[in-house]
Amino acid sequence: MSTDPFGLPAREFFERFRGESLTFDDLCVLQPRTIDFGAQEVDLSSRITRNIRINTPLVSSPMEDISEYELAIAVALQGFPAVIHYNMPVKEQAEQVRKVKRFENGFVIDPITLGPDATIAKAVEIRSDTGISTLPITDGGRLVGLLTKNDYSGRKHAQMKIAERMVPLERLKHQIVRVDALPEEDTARLSRANDLLLESHAGVLLIVNGSGQIESLVTRTDIEKNEAFPDSIKDRHKSLVVGAAVTTNPEQSRERAAELVAAGVDFLCIDSSHGNSAHEQAVLEYLKAEYPDIDVIYGNVATAGGAIRGIEWGADAIRVGKGVGSICSTSQVSLGTRSQITATYSCARAVREYCRNKGIEPSVPVISDGGYGTFGAIGKGLLFADAVMLGSMLAGTDEAPSAVIYDRQGRKLKGYKGMGSLEAVLRGSSARYDVETFDDYVAEGVVGTVRSKGPVSRWVPQIKTGIRKCLQSLGYRSLEELHEAVFSDAVLIERMSEAGKKEAGIHDLVEYRRDLPLD
Ligand code: 5GP
Repeated sequence: MSTDPFGLPAREFFERFRGESLTFDDLCVLQPRTIDFGAQEVDLSSRITRNIRINTPLVSSPMEDISEYELAIAVALQGFPAVIHYNMPVKEQAEQVRKVKRFENGFVIDPITLGPDATIAKAVEIRSDTGISTLPITDGGRLVGLLTKNDYSGRKHAQMKIAERMVPLERLKHQIVRVDALPEEDTARLSRANDLLLESHAGVLLIVNGSGQIESLVTRTDIEKNEAFPDSIKDRHKSLVVGAAVTTNPEQSRERAAELVAAGVDFLCIDSSHGNSAHEQAVLEYLKAEYPDIDVIYGNVATAGGAIRGIEWGADAIRVGKGVGSICSTSQVSLGTRSQITATYSCARAVREYCRNKGIEPSVPVISDGGYGTFGAIGKGLLFADAVMLGSMLAGTDEAPSAVIYDRQGRKLKGYKGMGSLEAVLRGSSARYDVETFDDYVAEGVVGTVRSKGPVSRWVPQIKTGIRKCLQSLGYRSLEELHEAVFSDAVLIERMSEAGKKEAGIHDLVEYRRDLPLD
């Protein structure tokens, strides 16, 4: 017997609502299978592009208030990549990519150093600017000593040379280790560093190369804070995976792509709010010809035709979403937009069928971008998409670069603005919105705030549990199993009525409180 006589398989459901643009709350998804496993058993692995596997089916949006290196590191440790935004000079964007690629869990790579002839005042200045007080002292690149806050008084010794206060190399031997003496594998490496540090009775372990140059260091506080990240995504050199955005302006994107590829970026994303354009085609074809080994995400599109054209032009992933982002005002000032669930289903189905007919293997992943504000919405997007791109849900994290603001009630908020807002466009995202002059500029986004969500390491695991529960509630242990079922008509859907939406919300209470950072 089928699950229920009244639900419809996705294909029939969307045929039935031909001519209607539906979104998350319009859908009820019926449970097709008996649940016989726990949520923690659900496998969240997926692909973000044709050749890049991820462990969590998410990606962080290339936006100024979200995706810079700190967030990119934090989310890659949680299993999904960020796309570093391009509202900054090319060199800076490439440096952001390098910082992610150089990150080693628990180790400070390329630590700040000073020379023996610098003054203590300089060390005090670094400490007040960055909070860093442990400084390896180098001469011509070679380690000659160590200066920590225990070695000087900022007031008494300000004008002294560092050489007079530092602990010299001879007295540091017990806390120096050669890089080739540490294991390569992450967990073993950290645990060995931890042991060496304990044996040394020191607060910091200095790691040098064969020529005595400092490579990295690890402090006791870092090791204590350090967690294991079993889901982290790494390239074949064991560096974290990161993407970066380029514009649809052919000249600008050539220069940007060259720098980003040289910095070691894993994939590129052509960031345009109105994809399926001749400019974007030119950039995509150029990138694929110049860098055949670098996967490229193409978009944004909202129709089957737009998605297929992207594949014909060489795309390695299709980004779907027009006019649906939380900060987006495109629907009020332009056309071509579409509600996110209909857009995602239509594109995902077309891409699957196209790839199957053309023998494109592995098929091109679909990324559903924008509009996601609850775990349930992410679950609905993942019925059809391979990954969901998040903006507002990551904007309030501690690692997001925007400023913290307190509102009148004392609530902690963080700034979050659209890349098409006047503020962002003036700072550089004009190419995304095809802006040549600001005299008649029409903004496609707003400037706002979101609730603070704390560190990524606390918030993202909740999102992951939320997604796992969505799959578990239908009886599927992986996205692959779920997609197989959805596209072979095993999962039934119904349209939720307006009364049903009210019923699905919290109701009939005098007041209530939420204990999670979801608004
Ligand atoms: P959110 O997750 O906040 O709902 O949506 C984030 C997505 O909105 C981004 O990934 C991007 O596609 C889109 N977006 C970002 N800024 C703007 C904007 O100013 N206008 C429009 N139309 N879309 C934007």
